[in-house]
Amino acid sequence: MNVTVLSGGIGGARFVAGLRDALAAGDEPARVTVIGNTADDIWLFGLRVCPDLDTVMYTLGGGIDADRGWGRQDETWHAKEELAAYGVEPSWFGLGDRDLATHVVRTQMLGAGYPLSQVTEALCDRWDLGVRLIPMTDDRVETHVVIDDAAAPEGRRAVHFQEYWVRLHAPVAHAVVPVGADEATPGPGVLEAITEADVVIFSPSNPVVSVATILAVPGTADAVRATTATVVGVSPIISGSPLRGMADRLLPVIGVDVTASAVGRYYGARSNGGLIDGWLVDESDGDTVPDLTATGIVARAVPLYLSDPDTSRTLAEDVLQLASSIRRYAE
Ligand code: GDP
Ligand code: CA
Repeated sequence: MNVTVLSGGIGGARFVAGLRDALAAGDEPARVTVIGNTADDIWLFGLRVCPDLDTVMYTLGGGIDADRGWGRQDETWHAKEELAAYGVEPSWFGLGDRDLATHVVRTQMLGAGYPLSQVTEALCDRWDLGVRLIPMTDDRVETHVVIDDAAAPEGRRAVHFQEYWVRLHAPVAHAVVPVGADEATPGPGVLEAITEADVVIFSPSNPVVSVATILAVPGTADAVRATTATVVGVSPIISGSPLRGMADRLLPVIGVDVTASAVGRYYGARSNGGLIDGWLVDESDGDTVPDLTATGIVARAVPLYLSDPDTSRTLAEDVLQLASSIRRYAE
């Protein structure tokens, strides 16, 4: 069985960890490919930082700081302090000493001419993920967010997503633009992973800046619409709240309500030109199942809160079960 997951950082990584556990316990041999969002990437201090790829790599490789949900465990911050002592900006982005090594290796390999996909493969070699992690594209794509700025010419300016999120803590936004996406090409293996999958999963990642950016690379959304795989997703919103993160700040920018049902309807039923066949909402959002069903999406309500490896694994089992029930119905 080939399973392909579209993933951002923390929500995606936790889900994929559960998926890996669930599949390892099953009897059918399975191969998981994770298509990682790279629109969060940023160049800092001459280094290429890929926050979402690294969150997946560290989480599955057992190197993540579990409390923070990003960066390395047992981290120290000497390099950051030294940079600050030199007065070098930005000082708001947390680059730990251990984490820094990842960015140094990546930047060195990129400088030597390797595409990001090959660099990612080389980095992942160390970690033994048990899944294949591939970037959505080898090209540079950067999400920028338009915010208010009284001092700017038209009262607004665009900032890099990391500045919006990490430094400014998600103020009111007017537009979210994945700069470069329309000229990007899907990374090696991305379209094949979607086309040749049995199941494609939208992890509970930020719909606007994790999943939509992956789908913004030309050809990717069409591959999802056309694949013979069953496509199912997990709501990142529970009872109107994004739990971890600030997805509630960005959904309104694209005109989507902060509810599990609105996000499912935003992706839309494949039977109706959309992107998903099935959608899991949290138990607490069970009353939205009929709305979703009416739009052609097969919806179920199950516990969606990921608190530990067991809940992640149970959720992955629910996702696979939903996919197989849709597949059986189709056959
Ligand atoms: P990021 O790149 O680190 O922001 O990570 P993702 O985009 O992969 O995931 C962030 C999203 O995960 C947030 O917008 C939340 O809505 C969602 N999320 C976080 N924790 C949970 C959880 O326990 N359950 C579910 N269903 N969604 C979650
Ligand atoms: Ca991210």
